[in-house]
Amino acid sequence: MPYRAPVSEFRFVLDQVVGMDQVAATELFAEATPETVEAILSEAGKLCETVLAPLNRAGDLTPAKLENGVVRTSPGFAEGYRAITEGGWVGMAASPEHGGMGLPMSLTTAVNEMIGSACLSLQLNPLMTQGQIEALEHHASDAIKELYIPKLISGEWCGTMNLTEAGAGSDVGALRTKAERNGDGTYAVTGQKIFITWGDNDFAGNICHLVLARLPDGAPGTRGISLFMVPKFIPDESGNPGKRNSLGVVSLEHKLGLHGSPTAVMQYDGATGWLIGEEHKGMAAMFTMMNNARLGVGMQGVAIAEAAFQHALTYAMDRKQGKTPLGATAIVDHADVRRMLGQMKAETFAARAIALACAVAIDMGRATGSADWQARAALLTPIAKAYGTDMGNEVAYLGVQVHGGMGFIEETGAAQFSRDARVTSIYEGTNGIQAMDLVGRKMMDGGAAAYRLLQEIEDHASEARATLPDLAGDVWAAAEALREATEWLVAQEAKDRNAGAVPYLRAFARVLGGHYHLKAALADASRQPLAAFAIKRLMPEHSALIAQMREGAAGLYALTPEALAS
Ligand SMILES: Cc1cc2nc3c(=O)[nH]c(=O)nc-3n(C[C@H](O)[C@H](O)[C@H](O)COP(=O)(O)OP(=O)(O)OC[C@H]3O[C@@H](n4cnc5c(N)ncnc54)[C@H](O)[C@@H]3O)c2cc1C
Repeated sequence: MPYRAPVSEFRFVLDQVVGMDQVAATELFAEATPETVEAILSEAGKLCETVLAPLNRAGDLTPAKLENGVVRTSPGFAEGYRAITEGGWVGMAASPEHGGMGLPMSLTTAVNEMIGSACLSLQLNPLMTQGQIEALEHHASDAIKELYIPKLISGEWCGTMNLTEAGAGSDVGALRTKAERNGDGTYAVTGQKIFITWGDNDFAGNICHLVLARLPDGAPGTRGISLFMVPKFIPDESGNPGKRNSLGVVSLEHKLGLHGSPTAVMQYDGATGWLIGEEHKGMAAMFTMMNNARLGVGMQGVAIAEAAFQHALTYAMDRKQGKTPLGATAIVDHADVRRMLGQMKAETFAARAIALACAVAIDMGRATGSADWQARAALLTPIAKAYGTDMGNEVAYLGVQVHGGMGFIEETGAAQFSRDARVTSIYEGTNGIQAMDLVGRKMMDGGAAAYRLLQEIEDHASEARATLPDLAGDVWAAAEALREATEWLVAQEAKDRNAGAVPYLRAFARVLGGHYHLKAALADASRQPLAAFAIKRLMPEHSALIAQMREGAAGLYALTPEALAS
């Protein structure tokens, strides 16, 4: 079933739900007028529908492979990548100073969703490069910026991020890769990194690896880590790829999904690297890339959800089984199939709205320098990542279910969405780690950013009571329950916060989802049935989640390994 880019849906969510008009009203993003937004979304949508979506299955069936140390990419991926770069889509949000378009993150995030729906394996490549560009813009020396950023923006070169090692996954501070000063301003990087997305390819002139490593005098843990740019080919004096650096791909992983995206074990043997940011402060620099990627990966979840929903709806309209209460025979008219499709659509809408609201907060933080907007972006990032990707998985799961037995058959295409979505809840910080970030670092303000957002939700619900009293009343009450839950949470010690982190994050997303659905229903009456579905059937889950959160850690640790094994 061909993918249809949801351009008008983006326009609606950006304009009516998440307040993109505020972004366009700033001096920094004055060019993001409704006409420009429409033109960009339509153009990107066309590329996704006609060029990229046809590559999705080819990537699944013919994975990237390693041949004599060289990664050979899936059929058509080189042409697809070229089409993405020629459209300027890699550098949409990058600064015009180095050749970027300087467009808001909110627009980039929408375009990234469409590229991800069309072909997630390929989309990962520019996503990594976008994050690297942002990290370099903020932390690299002028010389590195001038050399690398224009080539990354044009797509001539690609970027990767290298954190993970066999003994250092969620615990990045345990890494063992070493860096030594060469005495000429460069560094020698030695170690092995695993799971490196797009660690190599056969279509870019150079691969620029951002690698975390520890200098001999670096403290243990995350405080002593530094960040290095380690290119595959060392640029010569004119900035062209020169001598081969001493690094290589050891192997590619065989994965459950995302077969078109080569996931590499990378070996660095005294490879020449250049410091990014300050010595021992690499995590701060890498966090710029990670935050960019966290929102990006959250939107990957939405991308899969949208594609899986479109697929399932088309099938359900066509497939005939039994008599439905409406008298027709297509399965879309069975109550349970309606329930599944309603849930798929409602979750996709909510996850998209949360991710775009996060992107708007990033844009506003940048454009105005306001600490409140920056705190809003920081608060929403783990929610956008974890909820977006959980929904990618759940919606893809439902998509298979809607197809019945055909969902389990690869030719149908529904199964690929499920397989491709699975890793999005794991990489870029597992969703458990995202939840701990929400209840830990993002609550170091005592919950101030969360309370500000909840106040807005309650104020909006109060206004909405005049028009949609039933739905608005439910949203107001849910926000109030979440406020009380947050007050409880911030008063707990870390162990209990962490024990309740995942249910708290989901409860937060449930309330946000209700809020955005209410906004949509107010702006457009035709959206009321979907809003009612979300608010009456999905949002109530927040109470059970809050109850679970309040149980704290004791009950979890009472469940000893012996008890689990017995
Ligand atoms: C396809 C793919 C692509 C990837 N791409 C990249 C990439 O480009 N660059 C890169 O650097 N890495 C990449 N990764 C690595 C990815 O980010 C890690 O797999 C992920 O961070 C989890 O680390 P881990 O696999 O070591 O799991 P572990 O850290 O061993 O975690 C196992 C489980 O324990 C939980 N856990 C661990 N620590 C804690 C804690 N403190 N509190 C509570 N729970 C905890 C986790 O949530 C998880 O459920 C990729 C992975 C995959 C599979």
